[in-house]
Amino acid sequence: MSPEHADRGGESPPAAAKPLPVLIAGGGVAALELALALHDLAPEHTELTVIAPNQEFVYRPYSVREPFAYAPAARYPLDRILREAKAAHVLDELAWVEPDARLVHTASGEQLPYGALGIAVGANARPRFTHAITIDDARLDELMHGLIQDVEEGAVRSLAFVIPARMAWPLPIYELALMTAARAFEMNVAAEITILTPEDTPLAIFGGKASDAVRALLKEAGIQTITSAYAEVVGSGEITVDPGDRRLVVDRIVALPELYGPAVRGIPSAKHGFVRVDRFGQVPDSGPVFAAGDAVDFPVKHGGISAQQADVAARSIAALAGAGVPREPFAPVLRGMLLTGSRRRYLSARITGGHGFASEIGDAPMWSPPGKIAARYLGPCLAGLDATTMAST
Ligand SMILES: Cc1cc2nc3c(=O)[nH]c(=O)nc-3n(C[C@H](O)[C@H](O)[C@H](O)COP(=O)(O)OP(=O)(O)OC[C@H]3O[C@@H](n4cnc5c(N)ncnc54)[C@H](O)[C@@H]3O)c2cc1C
Repeated sequence: MSPEHADRGGESPPAAAKPLPVLIAGGGVAALELALALHDLAPEHTELTVIAPNQEFVYRPYSVREPFAYAPAARYPLDRILREAKAAHVLDELAWVEPDARLVHTASGEQLPYGALGIAVGANARPRFTHAITIDDARLDELMHGLIQDVEEGAVRSLAFVIPARMAWPLPIYELALMTAARAFEMNVAAEITILTPEDTPLAIFGGKASDAVRALLKEAGIQTITSAYAEVVGSGEITVDPGDRRLVVDRIVALPELYGPAVRGIPSAKHGFVRVDRFGQVPDSGPVFAAGDAVDFPVKHGGISAQQADVAARSIAALAGAGVPREPFAPVLRGMLLTGSRRRYLSARITGGHGFASEIGDAPMWSPPGKIAARYLGPCLAGLDATTMAST
């Protein structure tokens, strides 16, 4: 479908100024935050089109609760969110980019011109180990429900949660380990749980204070954490740990995947196919092309970080469109809500050079609305949609 024929939320673009046509590829946190931020910062100066293959936005972080038979991750109609941003939706995929001609070629063979392009297509998750259950949030219940039942029944007595050398998202493996331990405790069954991580300390990126508190939480839950560990799953239930010659034998192994960038044809890629951006969210040497989210070459993959990258790109695009908005460099603040099987913990840290500082942890939310993904524009938008849904049910 061409953008001309797509729904623009019932409003035509302003007639007076010629708005900058902004094409946003993606339908996740980064793309939606970018669209909502641009609508706020440059409503008159931009005309927004989102190209994405999905019709729903899934709130991925809550998928970790599904194997424990809690409520599934929330899903929102994508077009309902795009209506808030007055953005059109093209149901297709970005295939490749021709930066010199300012054209996006789509998977269905269309050509979409742009005045500015936002790439927010996420990362590709791939299993790192053959003999482990690899976390896939699209089917986490299917992958892990049986395992949790086996723990409840005492049929599985030892489990290892493994983080590969390149960390995907920081929170979910800790949450799964903590929730499994809490479930075993509730059911009064013994389960030996071990986390193996290449980090120096648990959730190190959240800084010293938060990491110390998480270490204490893990200890209290009876979880053994082996840090600075580069684990290999050498066979079913068998792990070797480098450095050293340590070997672990467990009933089951759960692992994080490794993430790879989208390697968009026409756009220069950094290592592993991620999109390189400058501190204003712009892709070097590619004209008005910007990127945000898990697709970007930044070591921390996290919804809140994706949203901040999108906010940075939005300001840069708004400035380019002549909206009189100054650009602002990326200054990441990591915010995370850790599910533990009992009380939630809220963590935050500033990040610099791959390390967290100004580390905080507490039982009370430090941002509003207090969702698992801290996003300046998407957070309130989803909270509004939740309120509407609740009012109409
Ligand atoms: C189990 C789990 C728990 C997590 N917990 C947390 C948490 O507690 N807090 C937190 O902040 N983050 C958390 N995260 C991380 C967070 O979900 C991601 O960082 C975030 O979703 C990244 O957003 P994104 O928009 O960059 O990518 P994605 O969410 O991957 O979205 C990418 C979008 O692009 C679309 N797309 C793909 N290819 C194309 C294409 N070629 N053209 C157009 N569109 C395309 C996809 O359909 C999708 O809509 C968690 C992740 C997982 C898996």
